[in-house]
Amino acid sequence: MEQEGVHQALYDIEEWVTSVKDKWINAKDLLLKHIREDEVNEWERDLGEIQTRVDLLKNNRSDQDTENLIVELKDVHEQCKILHDEYSQLSEKFSRTGDSELDFETETTKHKNHEIDDERLDFKKSKHTWSPPKDSVKPGKHKLPPLPYSYDALEPTISEEIMKLHHDIHHKSYVDGLNKAELKMENARKTGNFDLIRHWEREAAFNGAGHYLHTIFWDVMSPNGGGKPKGDLLNQIKYDFGSYNTFKKHFTEAAKNVEGPGWAILVWSPRSHRLAILQAEKHQNLSQWDVVPLLVLDVWEHAYYLQYKTDKDKYVDNWWDVVNWDYVAKRFKEAEKLQWKPY
Ligand code: MN
Repeated sequence: MEQEGVHQALYDIEEWVTSVKDKWINAKDLLLKHIREDEVNEWERDLGEIQTRVDLLKNNRSDQDTENLIVELKDVHEQCKILHDEYSQLSEKFSRTGDSELDFETETTKHKNHEIDDERLDFKKSKHTWSPPKDSVKPGKHKLPPLPYSYDALEPTISEEIMKLHHDIHHKSYVDGLNKAELKMENARKTGNFDLIRHWEREAAFNGAGHYLHTIFWDVMSPNGGGKPKGDLLNQIKYDFGSYNTFKKHFTEAAKNVEGPGWAILVWSPRSHRLAILQAEKHQNLSQWDVVPLLVLDVWEHAYYLQYKTDKDKYVDNWWDVVNWDYVAKRFKEAEKLQWKPY
């Protein structure tokens, strides 16, 4: 973003805050008639906080580099959005009281006319009404996903026998284990008896990590796999690792050197805004929270032993022939949208 754009965005936010403040003087009294005072006051406090942040930004903008300013601006933007949504909720509560002497809708409509320029900061505004996710998995209801190809599709890299055992027996047992742990914990919440909570939390972590990683693992492979990644994923790999070959070498070595059972995992870090390669010993150890796995390689013995015996290295080297880069790119495209404030 150009320096000029930053200043324009800052100006827009300031204008928005000022206009909201003006309207608030009238709105507050009306709201206080029908809505709990602390709710109204809390909203006003938040508005004041945004005002302070905007003033700070205005006064210090020449000292800050543009990068920092944009991050800060986006954050203030996010806060404005939350505030706007909360305002909508307050006015909805107000309208439910049935007091028709005042047309509160008109007030909220006016507010919308003072929204900040969406496109300048990719700021999408939506009216906030919460509803539960339609397709959430209830406790104990995880399912074994079907293999996206036939058992023998990855031959000769990975044999039919391994795929059958790996998917039908090993992955299935993670699903069953996770379901069991979740139901046990649901029961603990009902009865209030948490005596075995440590055990079931461990079971949920172990089996949950196993279930989720295997679910990705089947999809990051394909009978038409191999080759190199393309497009933005390739650009990002080059940017973060120097070249595709350096990345491949690093990932390969990480996989071969996992101590005991485990995984090699390429992740996008929403915090650092870059890719990284991690090892996970077993499933749940040595991994990082706050990251999104993109490319995962199972180096548990059950993933290769029948075919490769003790030659884990050969399995890892051959595995690259079945990597489904299109799927990895799809995950990357979604995951990169997550960008927390970096620290
Ligand atoms: Mn496995």
